[in-house]
Amino acid sequence: MSTSHSARVVIVGGAIMGSFCAWALRQAGHTGPITVVEKDPTYQWSSTALSAASIRTQFGTPTNIAMSLYAAQMFREIREVFGDDADIGFREKGYLILGGPGDVDARVAAAAMQRSHGAEIEVLGPEELQSRFPGISVEGIGVATFGARHEGWFDAWSLLSTVRRAARQGGVEYVEAAVASFETRGARVSSVTLADGKQLPCDFCVLAAGAWSGRLAAGLGIALPVVPKKRTVFCFKTPFKLANFPMLFDASGIWVRPEGDSYIGGIQPPPEQDFDADGDFEPDHGLLEEWFWPLLATRIPAMEELRVQRAWAGHYEVNTLDHNGVVGAHDELTNLIFATGFSGHGVMHAPAVGRGVAELITAGGYRVIDMRPLGWERIRTATPLFETIVY
Ligand SMILES: Cc1cc2nc3c(=O)[nH]c(=O)nc-3n(C[C@H](O)[C@H](O)[C@H](O)COP(=O)(O)OP(=O)(O)OC[C@H]3O[C@@H](n4cnc5c(N)ncnc54)[C@H](O)[C@@H]3O)c2cc1C
Repeated sequence: MSTSHSARVVIVGGAIMGSFCAWALRQAGHTGPITVVEKDPTYQWSSTALSAASIRTQFGTPTNIAMSLYAAQMFREIREVFGDDADIGFREKGYLILGGPGDVDARVAAAAMQRSHGAEIEVLGPEELQSRFPGISVEGIGVATFGARHEGWFDAWSLLSTVRRAARQGGVEYVEAAVASFETRGARVSSVTLADGKQLPCDFCVLAAGAWSGRLAAGLGIALPVVPKKRTVFCFKTPFKLANFPMLFDASGIWVRPEGDSYIGGIQPPPEQDFDADGDFEPDHGLLEEWFWPLLATRIPAMEELRVQRAWAGHYEVNTLDHNGVVGAHDELTNLIFATGFSGHGVMHAPAVGRGVAELITAGGYRVIDMRPLGWERIRTATPLFETIVY
């Protein structure tokens, strides 16, 4: 890939991925024009604004672990990176993942692998789980893994506002418009066409359009397997209180974590009901009655008493090949760079993706984290990246 510090970069999508790419380019010394095209500056339907904004280092691939560690360090040092008024409410209160008796060997091995890559993961047996987190039933639990450091949650909206502001201060231009199509010349995207027909010429085009990315790529004749899947979040109050309650992912598939003096939680729909969402942002209240509430009450009996305050739904940008991000250049359109498809872990990985994309454009290759395992090659060859911990 030819590189340049003065190239014209057009980024499609201005939420967390697009904004981190833009900001990191400036940080990397890119002097050329950077234009972020964002169709909705309110971000009301962006996955970023609707996410649960948690971070974990418990992944099954070293690349994902490294990306989480990169973000955790940035989150801890957010004021040094973005200035004294930056506050993303980072709560480093840990991520607790529960498994059944049949999961013990795999979880012990996974924790050892994660530790060997810098994560700080403890393995807890049922008794220790019970004494560390009273109130959580250990019925049917064989193993728990917990990362007290580098894991927890934060405020995704504040993170987006912070990086977007910094990008603008660095001279990045945000254009309010919808990208309609792309022009190509030979093996390159030569310009991006907006809905009003205006064309933005580019030397590099970064596709960071979240759940919309698959459709946009289709306009270039590229089969990018990224589709929107609806995920509902329930926000509720319960009399149950436990100091230092972590982000909890139960063996049953439910997740729950504190949010101020309330809790948020959810569960994926059963696979046969997990349709492509196509503009559907209506919360799935049936999931609460049928799945989430009973399973929550089983795992934390004192949470049976709860009062739902509100619910919302957003879209995961699911990479149907392997639920992992797609980062890097296309093999034929070599100046088209993907930064999408993170399927439920994109907010936590956006800082690292931004850095990686900036390195590709300014240096022609990765310097800090080798993201080649997330590259287009595996999509073209339909070779999934083996990641054991996705949900
Ligand atoms: C309920 C829920 C819970 C989640 N929980 C977590 C979590 O705990 N931790 C985590 O890390 N991640 C989580 N995620 C995933 C995370 O939110 C996403 O991976 C991440 O936000 C993706 O960022 P993005 O910038 O790629 O996409 P988005 O935030 O969706 O942004 C894409 C942007 O592109 C714009 N766009 C689209 N098409 C066009 C076009 N044609 N022209 C111009 N602009 C366009 C859109 O308006 C949008 O602003 C969750 C997601 C959901 C829905």
